[in-house]
Amino acid sequence: MAKGLRLVLFGPPGAGKGTQTRLLSGHLEVQAISTGDLFRSNLQRQTPLGLRASEYMNQGILVPDEVTIDIVLEKVMSLNSDDGFILDGFPRNPIQASALEEALDRRSRPVDLVIFIDVPDEELVRRLGGRLMCRNCQTPYTMEEDGQPEGAANRVCDSCGGDLYQRDDDSPAAVSKRIEVYHSETLPVLDFYRDKGLLARVDGVAAVEKVHNRVLKQIQRVSKTEDRE
Ligand code: AMP
Repeated sequence: MAKGLRLVLFGPPGAGKGTQTRLLSGHLEVQAISTGDLFRSNLQRQTPLGLRASEYMNQGILVPDEVTIDIVLEKVMSLNSDDGFILDGFPRNPIQASALEEALDRRSRPVDLVIFIDVPDEELVRRLGGRLMCRNCQTPYTMEEDGQPEGAANRVCDSCGGDLYQRDDDSPAAVSKRIEVYHSETLPVLDFYRDKGLLARVDGVAAVEKVHNRVLKQIQRVSKTEDRE
C-alpha cells in the first residue's frame, strides 16, 4: 500500500518539506515532485520557464497558476495510475488544489494523505535567513555564526560535492513576503483538505530525523486503515 501512496507535503516555506520529501521518497520508493526544485532546475538551464518563474520567485510571490498547474499535472499524469507520488510545494492555493483533485478523480486515484508540517513564523525566519543550499542536490545546510555551513567544509555539499549558495528568495525581504503569501494564499488549502478528512498535522520543530519519524507514524496510520478496508 505505502508504495502506491499519493501524498501531499504541506507547510510554510522553511518548514522542511523538501528535506522530508527526500527522506520519504527514498523510504517509500515513490517519485517526489517538487515545484520549487522544478523551477530552479529550469532556471539553472536558463529555459523560458525557469526565467519566467524566477521573476516571481525572487519577489517571494507565487508563479502564476497557468504556468504551474499544467507543469505539475503533466508530471503527475505521466506516472502509471497505481504509482505513488509525493508532492512538495503543490498545491499552494485552493485553485491548484481543485485542479489536482479533478485530474486525480479522472483516474479514481485521489490524494491519500496531506501531511501538514507545522512550524511557527519566528522559527521560519530564523531557519531561512541562515540557510545555504546545494545547487546540485538541493540539500539544505544551516549557517553557523561564522557564516560557515554546519557539516560541510568550504561551502561544498557533503552529500554530492555540489556548491552551496544562498537562494535569492532567502533574502530577508523575500522571506517575509513568502510568509505573508503563505498566510494569505496557501493556508486556505488546509481547510480544503481538512474538510475531506485528509489532513494530518505534524510538529515540525524538532531534529530532521524526529520529524521524519512523526511523518512516518502518520503514514502508517493511513496504510493500516487502508489494509483493513
Ligand atoms: P519552494 O522551493 O517550495 O520554497 O518554492 C520556491 C518558490 O517557487 C516559491 O516561493 C514560489 O515563487 C514558487 N513556487 C513553488 N511552488 C509553487 C506553486 N505550487 N505555485 C506557485 N509558485 C510556486
